[in-house]
Amino acid sequence: MWTMLRACVCALGSEGVRVMMESALTARDRVGVQDFVLLENHTSEAAFIENLRKRFKENLIYTYIGSVLVSVNPYKELEIYTKQHMERYRGVNFYEVSPHIYAVSDNAYRSMRTERRDQCILISGESGAGKTEASKKILQYYAVTCPASEQVQTVKDRLLQSNPVLEAFGNAKTLRNDNSSRFGKYMDIQFDFRGAPVGGHILNYLLEKSRVVHQNHGERNFHIFYQLIEGGEEDLLRRLGLERNTQQYQYLVKGNCPKVSSINDRNDWKAVRKALSVIGFNDDEVEELLNIIASVLHLGNVQFGAEESGNAYITTDTQIKYLARLLGVEGSILKEALTHKKIIAKGEELMSPLNSEQAASARDALSKAVYGRTFTWLVNKINLSLAYKDDLYPLSKNASVIGLLDIYGFEVFQQNSFEQFCINYCNEKLQQLFIELTLKSEQEEYESEGITWEPVQFFNNKIICDLVEEKFKGIISILDEECLRPGDASDLTFLEKLENTVGGHAHFVTHKLADGKTRKVMGREEFRLLHYAGEVNYNVNGFLDKNNDLLFRNLKEVRALGLTVLFCCVNAHHTSSLCCSSILTQCFDREELTDKKRPETTATQFKNSLAKLMEILMSKEPSYIRCIKPNDAKQAGRFDEVLIRHQVKYLGLMENLRVRRAGFAYRRRYEVFLQRYKSLCPDTWPNWKGRLADGVSTLVKHLGYKPEEYKLGRSKIFIRFPKTLFATEDALEVR
Ligand code: ADP
Ligand code: MG
Repeated sequence: MWTMLRACVCALGSEGVRVMMESALTARDRVGVQDFVLLENHTSEAAFIENLRKRFKENLIYTYIGSVLVSVNPYKELEIYTKQHMERYRGVNFYEVSPHIYAVSDNAYRSMRTERRDQCILISGESGAGKTEASKKILQYYAVTCPASEQVQTVKDRLLQSNPVLEAFGNAKTLRNDNSSRFGKYMDIQFDFRGAPVGGHILNYLLEKSRVVHQNHGERNFHIFYQLIEGGEEDLLRRLGLERNTQQYQYLVKGNCPKVSSINDRNDWKAVRKALSVIGFNDDEVEELLNIIASVLHLGNVQFGAEESGNAYITTDTQIKYLARLLGVEGSILKEALTHKKIIAKGEELMSPLNSEQAASARDALSKAVYGRTFTWLVNKINLSLAYKDDLYPLSKNASVIGLLDIYGFEVFQQNSFEQFCINYCNEKLQQLFIELTLKSEQEEYESEGITWEPVQFFNNKIICDLVEEKFKGIISILDEECLRPGDASDLTFLEKLENTVGGHAHFVTHKLADGKTRKVMGREEFRLLHYAGEVNYNVNGFLDKNNDLLFRNLKEVRALGLTVLFCCVNAHHTSSLCCSSILTQCFDREELTDKKRPETTATQFKNSLAKLMEILMSKEPSYIRCIKPNDAKQAGRFDEVLIRHQVKYLGLMENLRVRRAGFAYRRRYEVFLQRYKSLCPDTWPNWKGRLADGVSTLVKHLGYKPEEYKLGRSKIFIRFPKTLFATEDALEVR
């Protein structure tokens, strides 16, 4: 009895203890199945959601689709992340314990150790679904459970502390999430031959720079601005020329949301300051960094008036005074730079005046560029601090890596623009990777088990990736072409060109019908992509500007906009002893000034960095975490079915399940299967003495499995349908 009890508890995990008290059937009724693969009706979305709901009500936020972990944000602290929990999952097989993010973390770690293969954990989901929290939980798991030494402890601390710093500069309060990451992040954790974390590296994607100068109602700018103003020491604020009142700053008032109840800016400031020193920033560097943050705020307060001629002049001299001091630039140069652009006429450089509107947008472009580049500088600086220091011993061949990807999932709003286009393209690429890797590993497993490979029917989204990224005729190429074309190029000519080039594509739709009529349900400024996860309409408004990154809209303007500061710095550097911001000098590469080559567009940059990311991920063994947000009110206990159905669709979960179920629903190593069910057959009870495969074969024949229901591989049994397994489970319970 006790053996059975243990086996049962083992197999069902902590949920199992409770489950034991009831019959297996009623338990499944109440808490659902812990792997969607075991759902009787696996093609039914309703059954899928019902299973999620049952589990959510019982605080069981994790469920598998095979080895994919589905996680529903509980919006409350659950007692499932304690050290005891970590211990429970350490070194234990995936299926022996209830689904948990620690199981995924541990499984990746063990695969890395035993198979010597680099791993990656891909976390996706919409804003507020719990991606960043998940990545933090994984990091904490490794920090606590991996071997440590003094040197390793430093690395662990730095890995953990990189989070509050990146969140301060890269996260903001949005309508969807009080702590929303406004950039995509991929982080490598490097482990040495003992399995101890010894280094790390971060790649960042598409920071939402527009937030620096504008926030929608109810949203805020990046946390760091508020932290500095609320928490900064008196003398620091004095040096930076800042007042302790966020509402004094134009860049902080747009959303009309200075305070957030779930956020304590003053405490967060202390945490960030501490984190910065743990990471290895010295006081001077911190001060210089804050100089830039303060400069952005001052820049935002620079106002322009119009002379009679219409030319802009600056009405706010105090701001210029602070800016000049903080950036180490002469005030007069700065003033001229903010109200003029450099043009080249007859081979000569001239300063041509801007009107006040142009000057304001130049100012904003400069702020965005300064902030965006400072963020990249910060990531590089963190990377230097996380880099493996080989003073003790060189990282041997046996070193390996676990990568964590925390990136936006599919986004579908009422209005979708360039940003959603990039994000959804990224998700197509990740789905492509999922298909290639999952099918590859399925195939490999079948081959290594000696089972005939049966091709799986599924939708391959490569065709959509090509539509977006193909050279010359993909959407990005066409967009770039329009961005480069002088003359009358506009968002609408871009759309027209799209219609002419990819109009016939099966996954591309506009309001124009083939017979010359128009499709009424679509706007004239829209194109629709039929993504693998569903349809999304994109409004082309702003595509060209955003792709050009404004800073580079016009090569001549470049000199007047983003590089103003560098100009000033360089000038100052050469002509006087004024000190200038070394961070900004590093950020704005001098080459850019002289290089006549046009910088890459945003979409092409993103495409290239995604291609690199795919290469990195392709070389690793993946695990997946799909995060779901249960409601829009950020409330515990509320399960909004409409919202969840939408996410199940756009996360492609039914598609995941289909791919996973296309072969065999369930597979288990012989010894595990035999151990669990041997009591059901007199020939295998209490112990089977012969070959494991023969024991399993005897057992399933005794249980009446039909030949089409299962296959025996070299080391595992593969069972096609969940109901076969359930019948066996039930037999165990009835005894
Ligand atoms: P995302 O990165 O997907 O936008 P976050 O990870 O920032 O979302 O999560 C949003 C909020 O939801 C968090 O600030 C936290 O309050 C809550 N949350 C997310 N995951 C969990 C969890 N596992 N347990 C408790 N609360 C969570
Ligand atoms: Mg996040």
